[in-house]
Amino acid sequence: MGNGNKAQMKRERNAKAGTEAKSQLKINVASKTIQCKVCFQTFMCTSKVPELTLHADNKHSKTLLECFPEHKENETKSDNKPNAKVSGKK
Ligand SMILES: [Zn+2]
Repeated sequence: MGNGNKAQMKRERNAKAGTEAKSQLKINVASKTIQCKVCFQTFMCTSKVPELTLHADNKHSKTLLECFPEHKENETKSDNKPNAKVSGKK
């Protein structure tokens, strides 16, 4: 009757793999957030520049880049996109 035991072990192993996949998903979600360098408050990656500027100004009387240094890259990237589209061949 060792077969039934084996099947159960397999099932437990599968359940464990499921939780591991879930924790990986959590990491991916975390990397998609924007964090204020001053108070470590997190914002959704979809937060718009005016929202973040408002937080920096109201909470810390600082500029956007002082609270969210990485956000400048995102901004310049999206600025470059329309230009590339215009110069790109069809
Ligand atoms: Zn802050």
